Amino acid sequence: MTGKFKAPRGTFDVLPEQSAQRERIHLAAREIFGLAGYRFIMTPAFEETALFERGVGKSTDIVRKEMFTFEDKGGRSLTLRPEGTAPICRAYVEHGMRRLPQPVKLFYAGPFFRHERPQAGRYRQFNQIGAEAIGTDSPLADVEVITLISDLFEELGVPGVELRIGSLGSHEARAGYLEELKSHLRARSGELSDDVRERIEINPLRAFDSDHEGTRAVMTEAPTLLEHLDEEDAAHFEQVKGLLGAASVEYTIDPTLVRGLDYYTRTIFSFVCDRLGAQSEIGGGGRYDGLIEQLGGPATPAVGWAAGIERILLALDEDVTSAGMDLFIAIADPGLTTKAVALASELRHQGLAVEIDLAGRSMKGQFRQADRVGAAHTLILEAGGSASLKNMDTGDQESVDPKHVANLIRP
Ligand code: AMP
Repeated sequence: MTGKFKAPRGTFDVLPEQSAQRERIHLAAREIFGLAGYRFIMTPAFEETALFERGVGKSTDIVRKEMFTFEDKGGRSLTLRPEGTAPICRAYVEHGMRRLPQPVKLFYAGPFFRHERPQAGRYRQFNQIGAEAIGTDSPLADVEVITLISDLFEELGVPGVELRIGSLGSHEARAGYLEELKSHLRARSGELSDDVRERIEINPLRAFDSDHEGTRAVMTEAPTLLEHLDEEDAAHFEQVKGLLGAASVEYTIDPTLVRGLDYYTRTIFSFVCDRLGAQSEIGGGGRYDGLIEQLGGPATPAVGWAAGIERILLALDEDVTSAGMDLFIAIADPGLTTKAVALASELRHQGLAVEIDLAGRSMKGQFRQADRVGAAHTLILEAGGSASLKNMDTGDQESVDPKHVANLIRP
């Protein structure tokens, strides 16, 4: 077969000129999370399919339609991870992290995979950055993780971000409310979308997320979970709100907030950004007090979130230019190559960004290349051992001893 290849539908290449802003996001996240005691964790890009079926929930869109699932050569069913929390909980149980001082505070970054309909801000391979505090049900942890993501957006200068919060209550306390919601939906099932109607019994909360007009009308009159929280869940939510206020994090309460994964309990939150169009959520998460037990571990309360890197980039809507090189070493004679290579290596060890000509260019060509790579200075090595240093901004040129060049150009 002939013809050129393209990146698969819903995926994209990150080209070098697009990577500086991404690096800035990762650096800011590492700094902010590190200062709060969160440590980096990395799990595999694929897991046993059952982990997501059990963790994310069989009735969710993710498990029903969006997973990239395949069989390995031994006949095991594996799935490219659609989200990061279930794998981290799997790692928490597998590595006995309950023996560590609790909570265990972790952060992660990497690619995730969902077979969704691609559009701006929605891809089949996308990148998330996220944080989890595992092993405490204290509302302080909810507020700490929310503060991390809010500080990250602030540090990056993401415009137009708004935090919405809600509470789903505990799984047990929610049961009564769900019955009430199901009766409301059953009574008006003729007005609902097919998708919502089919899932009345298995996932009625998702009706709140529908953009189907009839369903939305039904939902404006639906009972909300916030009015049905039991005493303990309501007190927990009150504390979260009070602590957010004390931390000066602005929020609005959204009684209709739900999330696309089954594991959430109590606090849920969503950061939306008005620069993003239809896919307006830039990050979100919540508490998942039952998940670790559901995955075979001990009952362990936890809270966390994930944010989409590509959505942050879309919201920032501008590229930062990468820093140029400190020095380009040009040689007037091919016999000077070894000397140029040795000098470049020595200067790089000293932390300077240095390039040399790798393409056998003429002197003029080397100067042009120095310009293209954004070199602040060019050092010209001449036959006979002399050298001169050109300031590429001013054009000034002076004779120098190559031994001293580091001090002359250090930014
Ligand atoms: P979730 O894991 O569904 O709670 O999503 C957390 C965040 O990941 C969202 O707020 C988005 O920023 C991002 N995200 C989720 N799905 C996609 C996707 N298909 N493409 C790009 N970003 C996504």
